Amino acid sequence: MADVICPYCGKKAELSTGKRIYPHRLDLHKLLFYVCWKCQAWVGCHKSGRPLGRLADEKLRKAKIAAHDSFDRIWKSGRLTRTEAYKWLAEKLKIPVEECHIGMFDLDTCQRVTIVCGENK
Ligand SMILES: [Zn+2]
Repeated sequence: MADVICPYCGKKAELSTGKRIYPHRLDLHKLLFYVCWKCQAWVGCHKSGRPLGRLADEKLRKAKIAAHDSFDRIWKSGRLTRTEAYKWLAEKLKIPVEECHIGMFDLDTCQRVTIVCGENK
């Protein structure tokens, strides 16, 4: 399997359990993550060893949470279904809907999500 590289420092990420990252989250202890300890960046990992996206540092993790919050508000309001909301977001971001997963977005895209969703009131 190909190495997972930390996008911040370019070094190889280490496979770790959730226990070391989230000592207080018992529900995450058995999950696997690719971690760069130096950058405090990580990403969840599939049972097969495939990473679920790119490594995210604290800044990006916070941006993803903010992006999700503002996006979820749109479909939770009931005006759009979740699928329609993803389609709308993909159009706004000018990306294919298949690539429209907030978990995969970089910092810049997360910030754009928060902005465009904030405008959809
Ligand atoms: Zn790193």
